[in-house]
Amino acid sequence: MKYPTLIDTQQLFREHDHPVKAGLDPKCRSTKPLCPDSFAKVIKNIDTFIFDADGVLWLGESVMPGSPRLIDYLVKHNKQIIVLTNNATKSRAVYAKKLAKLGYNSSKMNKNNLVNPAAVVADTLHRSGLDGKRVYLIGEQGLRDEMDELGIEYFGHGPEKKQNEEAASGAFMYDIKLEENVGAVVVGYEKHFDYTKMMKAANYLREEGVLFVATNEDETCPGPNPEVVIPDAGPIVAAIRCASGRDPLTVGKPCTPAFNYIKRKWNINPSRTMMIGDRTNTDVKFGRDHGMKTLLVLSGCHQIEDIIENQMNERDDMVPDYVAPCLGALVPERM
Ligand SMILES: [Mg+2]
Repeated sequence: MKYPTLIDTQQLFREHDHPVKAGLDPKCRSTKPLCPDSFAKVIKNIDTFIFDADGVLWLGESVMPGSPRLIDYLVKHNKQIIVLTNNATKSRAVYAKKLAKLGYNSSKMNKNNLVNPAAVVADTLHRSGLDGKRVYLIGEQGLRDEMDELGIEYFGHGPEKKQNEEAASGAFMYDIKLEENVGAVVVGYEKHFDYTKMMKAANYLREEGVLFVATNEDETCPGPNPEVVIPDAGPIVAAIRCASGRDPLTVGKPCTPAFNYIKRKWNINPSRTMMIGDRTNTDVKFGRDHGMKTLLVLSGCHQIEDIIENQMNERDDMVPDYVAPCLGALVPERM
């Protein structure tokens, strides 16, 4: 199989000819392009690799060509593999099945090597001790599955009952029905999100002791048609933040709860860990903020132009250590 040839990053920086000469100016944090030879040297100092999923391991429902081979190569070198996605709509078990279906090594990439915000939310609630209180949930099946696994009770997900004419005209606003014994409001992507849900969430959050936990704050999610914007959890969280006047504990990348979860579970050494992803503001920032090495692959969302923009804006936290066209481009011809 043919993979894209390695992009000469410095050449690209020169072509863009922007004022700070990012990557050439010693004041600027630079990004090194990787090829199979240089990658083989880099991995000597890395024990654990954390992979984002969409745009890295798969693209929608298709496998990213070459990525399973790269995983096999790292496994052969006794590296630890962790998958960290920001998608909470499905559980880890469902993602594990998807990886196996796409041809990934299922003994090294299964539910036990996967992390998603749904699992981190459930773990956070479980450890915070809800004292038998219930969760008001705005979220999809993945959150429900992970909370079920830890015996956390929730309600509120799914479509709201249709208001009748009178209620729709405004009367329902003064007569909103709130449940008793709510200990937390959990907010993630949910396609049935609407005004009533926003109102209920904001009202539950009036109680100071009620936790406000969000899965992730990605603005949009990738879809099959690049012409169509698909809002992710970010805009939903923003609406409830605005209506309630409270800030959530957000668990997904680039935030720290996901890192703490991984640190607790695998006891990783950040300086010997590499975060690999396709976004600078979630994957790279997550790695940089938590002391890991970072690699941006150009097979998904962000491109060289985005690295340059981050350098120009002095956003070192979003400038990766390394860049490669895709994972497949890092596999040596003979493994
Ligand atoms: Mg991604």
